[in-house]
Amino acid sequence: MKVVRKLFELQTVQKEIERLTHKMERIDVDVDNYRKKWADAKKLLQLKEDALKKLKERLLNEELDLKEIEEHIATLKERLYSGKGKSKELSGMQKKVENLSKKRDKKETVVLELMDVISSAEEDFAKISEDVHLQMDSLMQMIEEAILKRKEMEQQVDKLHREEDDIERGIEKKYLSMYYELKESLKDPVAVVKDGVCMGCSISLPSDTIRRLKEDTEVVRCDNCGRMLMIEGD
Ligand SMILES: [Zn+2]
Repeated sequence: MKVVRKLFELQTVQKEIERLTHKMERIDVDVDNYRKKWADAKKLLQLKEDALKKLKERLLNEELDLKEIEEHIATLKERLYSGKGKSKELSGMQKKVENLSKKRDKKETVVLELMDVISSAEEDFAKISEDVHLQMDSLMQMIEEAILKRKEMEQQVDKLHREEDDIERGIEKKYLSMYYELKESLKDPVAVVKDGVCMGCSISLPSDTIRRLKEDTEVVRCDNCGRMLMIEGD
């Protein structure tokens, strides 16, 4: 039956639409993942950058402290060397200079250690930054390619929907209803018959069914699965 051929054509187009739609959904998931990975990479870089910035701020503060101590020592020394003041006061000042000098030495160690830490953190950051930027670039490229591919598929699906409409317009309403009724329970309501076997359910068809199919005067359905049958090469 010509109408079964048309329904089969409709089924083929609809299957292709479904296949492409699933593919587009998978692309959407992929793109989401790529975007998340990209955002994570950016966040990681930001965290590393912030940590480095904090270290540098700390160094600046330590250096300021050191400068303050040194200035304090210098002031006290100036007063000490001027020789003005009572001896008790002078010895107190001397003691203070000694304490401040110890504090300065400690601070100097802290500053030097911090400089080392920052130096290796900067090296780490430069390496990580290069790696992460490469990763981000490649993710961005993957996103762009996926979006492009999706757009092509969208156009293909639009074209197929127009084909679908055209085919449906050429099919009598009662057959179309039969097709959609079957489609509610079967993914493919039209089955090809190959060597006397229904390709929908893989059951050998009775000779009477084959005879009716060959007569080609009615829509013949598989007794077993209910699919509309179409002889291959019909
Ligand atoms: Zn069947």
